[in-house]
Amino acid sequence: MNILVTGGAGYIGSHVLKLLLKAGHKVVTLDNLQKGHRQAVTGGQFVVGDLADRKLLNKVMQENKIEGVIHLAADSLVGESMEKPAKYYFNNFINGINLLEAMVANGVKYIVFSSTAAVYGEPKEIPIKEENLTKPTNTYGESKLFFEKALKRYEQIHGLRSISLRYFNAAGADPEGEIGEAHNPETHLIPLILETALGEREKIYIFGDDYPTRDGSCIRDYIHVNDLAAAHLLAIESLAVKNKSAVYNLGNGEGYSVKEVIQAVKTVTGRDFPVEIAARRAGDPAVLIASSAKIKEELNWQPEYYQLEKIISTAWEWHKNGGFNK
Ligand code: UDP
Repeated sequence: MNILVTGGAGYIGSHVLKLLLKAGHKVVTLDNLQKGHRQAVTGGQFVVGDLADRKLLNKVMQENKIEGVIHLAADSLVGESMEKPAKYYFNNFINGINLLEAMVANGVKYIVFSSTAAVYGEPKEIPIKEENLTKPTNTYGESKLFFEKALKRYEQIHGLRSISLRYFNAAGADPEGEIGEAHNPETHLIPLILETALGEREKIYIFGDDYPTRDGSCIRDYIHVNDLAAAHLLAIESLAVKNKSAVYNLGNGEGYSVKEVIQAVKTVTGRDFPVEIAARRAGDPAVLIASSAKIKEELNWQPEYYQLEKIISTAWEWHKNGGFNK
């Protein structure tokens, strides 16, 4: 297929791009490089530009005869979304609508959307299933939920077909070591702990140890970025064959607390480092664990890197070798 990947220079997008290219698809990456890295785009055509630029979207779609879009371009920090809500409503929702309008205008029928576990908010049931209540506790999750709702309307009104993938916590790096996670500033737990293990940070802070969990720290479901990427490939191919919309969770179905992740990093790296308890971060639910039974059953998705230590060791290889600065 001719596929447009928005946000393809980002952490998850670059892993998606690499798998799409390996599978033989013709890919155009669109990224404004606000957060992404040029080196992360390992093939296909690369257009530097913004989702707000409708003329550019039209041009890219027409010139490349785009048949499907994998839409990952977004702001994705829970903490920041509770300080700058407008940034999240504009970039994730309004610019997303701009993309949908361009798709409709150019006859592009299929979209795979990078959604999030944050659409659920504080879950009533664990593991979380797709049909459970969506009540986001932060602006990030809300902006993604708004877009999921828009996708339903665009299906009803314009016949657009979509698969929304609700990611739990993406982690790890390309096992070939070519690409990996490199946010600036880094806010995600696993890379922060790895940077602490490398001595680049003084200590790691645990954001709250008074949650109603087994050790008081938040529990999350960590999924390897390549397993996530593989799901995008299955999703876009399934849209083209079955022409059927869906929403899927993507996680391992196994939860680890912040304290357990820190311990696992100590085991994998063989290094010790200081850990300090800090205040809770706004908008953080206590426990997020996915049921991914639906995507396993309907798209035959199977995670390959489901053990936490294996996930961490791919990320450790990447960080230890200097990431994009090697
Ligand atoms: N976290 C933490 N210390 C940090 C960064 C994150 O304790 O320095 C916690 C955070 O509160 C959450 C979990 O680690 O419970 C995962 O956070 P991350 O930002 O990696 O992903 P998110 O769950 O926000 O998508």
